[in-house]
Amino acid sequence: MRAVQYVKIGAHPEVVTVEKPEPGPGQVRLRVTAAGLCHSDEFVMSLPEDRYGYPLPMTLGHEGAGIVDALGAGVTGVTIGESVAVYGPWGCGLCHACAQGKENYCNRAAELGIFPPGLGAHGALAEYMIVDDVRHLVPLGDLDPVEAVSLTDAGLTPYHAIRSSMAALRPGATAVVIGAGGLGHMGIQLLRALTGVTIIALDIDQDKLRLATEVGAHHVAPSGPDAPQFIRQLTGGDGADAVFDFVGIQATVEIARQSIARDGIIQIVGIGGGILPAGFFSLPFGASVRTPYWGSRSELMEVFELARTGKIKVHVERFSLEQAPEAYERLHAGSILGRAVVVP
Ligand code: NAD
Ligand code: ZN
Ligand code: ZN
Repeated sequence: MRAVQYVKIGAHPEVVTVEKPEPGPGQVRLRVTAAGLCHSDEFVMSLPEDRYGYPLPMTLGHEGAGIVDALGAGVTGVTIGESVAVYGPWGCGLCHACAQGKENYCNRAAELGIFPPGLGAHGALAEYMIVDDVRHLVPLGDLDPVEAVSLTDAGLTPYHAIRSSMAALRPGATAVVIGAGGLGHMGIQLLRALTGVTIIALDIDQDKLRLATEVGAHHVAPSGPDAPQFIRQLTGGDGADAVFDFVGIQATVEIARQSIARDGIIQIVGIGGGILPAGFFSLPFGASVRTPYWGSRSELMEVFELARTGKIKVHVERFSLEQAPEAYERLHAGSILGRAVVVP
């Protein structure tokens, strides 16, 4: 089968031919119907050798959907031919976090050698993929896999960040979304669907700001040193009650710090490595900072329900498997609007 693999550190991903994988005991094989490209893949492929902690070659893709194609020994609960999405942050399934469905916060996964598909295990950018447990499948029902696949990360991650900020997101409050890319354009829609807040979107790209307005941002502005003043003006000096930073570089966490209101919450979602000093006289009274990671299994089901009712919709650019390397280059160049989705 064909797969898109990261083969050599620093090199571009390649379309290669590999053996079709067989599901081991407890595992499920999917015939992939769609796979999304995330900026985190970019991050992984930018790591120098001494910081790269994944196997090579590795099939990319941690947003996956497929048709159940073969069952390993002992698998029950799904049927061949069923359309499913993959819950990506695989945990141990047994610890306290996993027992609550919060496998994204499993403390034991790494120690047990359990890694998400495309981020340690072979991922979804292939004709077939192996899922380690039925627990990591969510039935898609009538949802179109191409339109739904990125809900597993670009939808789920902002959803989790927003749900854990609800105390600050009262009707009439203001939320700032920094970075209106794959995650950000979903964050805007989720804020619209779940709250009555005013949404200000910041980006460095005019096309992304246009998309932000299209999907529901009330105000948009260029992301830069003037942004905090713009946000303070719009909020009568108070600042934003919540800031969702989908970039997370030093420049954007600084915008977040200067824009946050008293008792507000900053969610640094982007993994740009920016450091935000938290303490008295560096943040307003009551402000908190959080670094959320992905989301829980039940939250993913809730995101699918929102998509089912038409409240959220991923803006998808489609690519074939052969075009995946080119799609990654466009993601790198910042010219993907919404999410790039590969349809094998
Ligand atoms: P993306 O490339 O689709 O979008 C990034 C957006 O940020 C683009 O619109 C770009 O124009 C904009 N941008 C770049 N620099 C900016 C700046 N200085 N100010 C404002 N906007 C700027 O990326 P994505 O897939 O949406 O991922 C966003 C970030 O979230 C990445 O860092 C990714 O690795 C991370 N991520 C984190 C998690 C998590 O669990 N915490 C999950 C998925 C992705
Ligand atoms: Zn991701
Ligand atoms: Zn666990």
